Amino acid sequence: MSSRYSVLIVGAGPAGIGVAAALKRCGVENFLIVDAREPGASFAAWPGEMRMITPSFYSNPFGHLDLNSVDPETSPADFLRTQHPTGKEYALYLQAVVAHHQLPVRGGVKVTEIQRDEDGFLVMTESGLLRAKMVVWATGQFFYPNERGFPGAEHCRHSSAVKDWRSLAGSEFTIIGGYESGIDAAVTLCEFGKNVRLLSRGEPWSVDSPDPSRSLSPRTLDRVRSLLGRPGAGRLELVGNEDIRRVEKGADGWTLHAQNGGTTVSRTQPILASGYAGGFALVGELFDHREGRPVFHESCDESTITPGLFYSGPELAHRGSLFCFIYKFRSRFGLIAREIAERLGVMGVEKSLEIYATAGLMNEDLDCCTSCECALEPVGESGSDRGEMLEAARHSLAEI
Ligand SMILES: Cc1cc2nc3c(=O)[nH]c(=O)nc-3n(C[C@H](O)[C@H](O)[C@H](O)COP(=O)(O)OP(=O)(O)OC[C@H]3O[C@@H](n4cnc5c(N)ncnc54)[C@H](O)[C@@H]3O)c2cc1C
Repeated sequence: MSSRYSVLIVGAGPAGIGVAAALKRCGVENFLIVDAREPGASFAAWPGEMRMITPSFYSNPFGHLDLNSVDPETSPADFLRTQHPTGKEYALYLQAVVAHHQLPVRGGVKVTEIQRDEDGFLVMTESGLLRAKMVVWATGQFFYPNERGFPGAEHCRHSSAVKDWRSLAGSEFTIIGGYESGIDAAVTLCEFGKNVRLLSRGEPWSVDSPDPSRSLSPRTLDRVRSLLGRPGAGRLELVGNEDIRRVEKGADGWTLHAQNGGTTVSRTQPILASGYAGGFALVGELFDHREGRPVFHESCDESTITPGLFYSGPELAHRGSLFCFIYKFRSRFGLIAREIAERLGVMGVEKSLEIYATAGLMNEDLDCCTSCECALEPVGESGSDRGEMLEAARHSLAEI
């Protein structure tokens, strides 16, 4: 396989498919989406019980795009007839979008390296070399779990590796991490009658912020409340301000050591809900970094040091705010597509994308980043923090 494309999109999740649909609407031809698995693969890999926290509701004709839509014409609520799709259902929606727009996707193509050359990019894959004038990096986070956060983390089971919470053996569980993944795991286990002790660095369940990037979503809070007094539910113990620094595995179980000297002994393998190392393992050097995070051009989410390399997805950040939900990062789909199409010399792009502008998928006004409360905290000031994250991400890449 050795082919040359105008645009290569790496990753067929909502970020890659969303940009692809916008490119197609602009009239860009000769582009390809490649994916190591298949469209919607990370959603398809969610545990069966897990549902999207962002609600879907068909309101498109009134100018309010379904929160989980990836293009102006479709709605997961309309397609799936449910408000909080499971991962598998959402993967079906993404596959339907691919079919609806007849997007060119090639599955089973894992990208292993990217290099810039004078004509654009050389994209090495396990199935051969691809060449492209421009690349959109959209590999998401799910297949890059952060499994190396502290000594002994490898003794734990990352939440993303669980396919079915009901089948986990044992009646008492310990979870490290109190954001959405940790609480989702805890509540699901309690719903199955298991007792859970959840240890969290902070107290996300007490944070009062309107932004779901900083506080737990209303759906998650509803689920926690629904456990109270529910017959057959297990006990949920939320322990805040307990930062686990080390885990030891012994004959009697796992001992978790916290920053305050406290220890917890777990008889079952601790569940690590400590997030994701990020999907920049292969392209980390092609992006500039500030405070441990990649930097993007404000106009179109292009790398500031590698012209022609764009990013779409949940690690997008501008002015200190993270675009980590679909409804956030999709607001840039039209801008990325417009920039690429105009560079390729396509005419009438602005007109073609009018529907994207109306639907809020061409948001140029980054005041939303400075005037709302979803400001980012740096992941690490030092180069070594970034090095550790990249190392963890590279480790995951080998296992995709
Ligand atoms: C557990 C979890 C739950 C979430 N829940 C929500 C939610 O309810 N609502 C919401 O708005 N957001 C949610 N998010 C955040 C975000 O929307 C998702 O992470 C979303 O999947 C991001 O879309 P994406 O297209 O960037 O990544 P993905 O959906 O992960 O797609 C990336 C694709 O790239 C492919 N890929 C990866 N590496 C390579 C490679 N080297 N070569 C080729 N292909 C590759 C993968 O196979 C995958 O198909 C959640 C995130 C997680 C982790």
